[in-house]
Amino acid sequence: MEHIRSEQLYAEACEIIPCGVSSSMRKNVKPLLFFERADGPYYFDVDGNRYIDYTLAWGPLIAGSNHPLINKAVAEQLQKSYTLGAQHPLEVALAQKLTSILPGLEQVAFSNTGSEAVQSAIRIARTYTGRSKIVKFEGHYHGWLNNILVSYKPQPAQLGSPSASCGGQPAPEFEDTLVLPWNNLEAVKELLATRGHEIACVITEPVLANSGCCMPNDGYLQGIIDCCQEHGVVSIFDEVITGFRLALGGAREYFGLRPDLSVYAKAIAGGFTMAALGGRKDIFEVIREGKTIHAGTYNGASVNLAAALATLNILSGENCFAQLHAYGHALREHLQLAAANAGLNLVTTGAGSVFSMHFGLTEAPRNYADTLAADTTLFAKFRGLMLEEGIHLLPDGRWYIGITHTDVELAATRQAIDHTFAAMRKS
Ligand code: PLP
Repeated sequence: MEHIRSEQLYAEACEIIPCGVSSSMRKNVKPLLFFERADGPYYFDVDGNRYIDYTLAWGPLIAGSNHPLINKAVAEQLQKSYTLGAQHPLEVALAQKLTSILPGLEQVAFSNTGSEAVQSAIRIARTYTGRSKIVKFEGHYHGWLNNILVSYKPQPAQLGSPSASCGGQPAPEFEDTLVLPWNNLEAVKELLATRGHEIACVITEPVLANSGCCMPNDGYLQGIIDCCQEHGVVSIFDEVITGFRLALGGAREYFGLRPDLSVYAKAIAGGFTMAALGGRKDIFEVIREGKTIHAGTYNGASVNLAAALATLNILSGENCFAQLHAYGHALREHLQLAAANAGLNLVTTGAGSVFSMHFGLTEAPRNYADTLAADTTLFAKFRGLMLEEGIHLLPDGRWYIGITHTDVELAATRQAIDHTFAAMRKS
């Protein structure tokens, strides 16, 4: 494949864009490609090459790109208004849709990004409980703000105590954030038993999608909810990735859980900017009563509302999630078989249409610390070879599947996997 114009743009970007467009995409693979168009499950780079995309823009593109129904809804809405900064009937329609498909959700508030909706959840929980501490888990990502970007990817020596995840995070800004290892219910019980009276909320990803797609142990998530309830702590499930992906009703439906609050973004609007916080009506009273503020100029912008409704209507289609799960299952099976044939240890973890690859492991990791043993150099090699085969993957081993991935893409991907493992066996 030719990457001439991508190389030029990369050199130019490094001069004028400090993060080089997307620092995380740059980390593991060269060349850094510049894409200019996407259609269905395909990305097209500026050099005219076509790729089957499994990044889905880090998750949102669950209905692929250029979807006719999303395009139509957005185009029609554009004629009427971009954003109004005032009430809009689509707000009510989207809230009704969300409360009908997300089990146990009684009320919702809209934001633009997952990071913002997480902050709203924390602020509401603090107001509701009158407490200030928040509990999160190692390896979990809940957005990039100082109070929560804590122990996101800690070094082995940092495990066990809260640590800043990057420069520019003054310690006082996260001194109210307590961090625990995930999938250890005893640790949650112990902390809440001793310090529950100080703790406003416990926030968790239901599947640890941001660090290796680790699955929760049986009873673990329900255990968190029960323990929170016992100590008057608000349970918050961050469904920015699992929402509208594990099932139409996200982790609430997939695992049969009813946390106090849940956060949604990414797949909710198929690639447009939208996030929602939903949960128990009595907890939202603190906003209604003016005890705290939930704000944002673009909250509920009309074009984004239209995109969200169109996306959720598409995802409400029959067999949609059965198809997503079947595709994910088939891919994982093929990857594992091909790795075994090449004499390589490989484990995949996750659920349905989001999963991760871990080279060098023989057992599924159960939490962030377990994922540290994986061979990330081997994955970087795999990813680079797959790119040459026309398959676009995320740099952290995660795969996202969307509804526009069909048998055609599955067959092409299987072939690319076979070629890649054959090349890895030779080298
Ligand atoms: N929560 C989770 C679980 C996420 O994966 C992300 C982003 O990847 C966020 C929150 C932050 O969302 P956003 O990037 O829309 O601010």
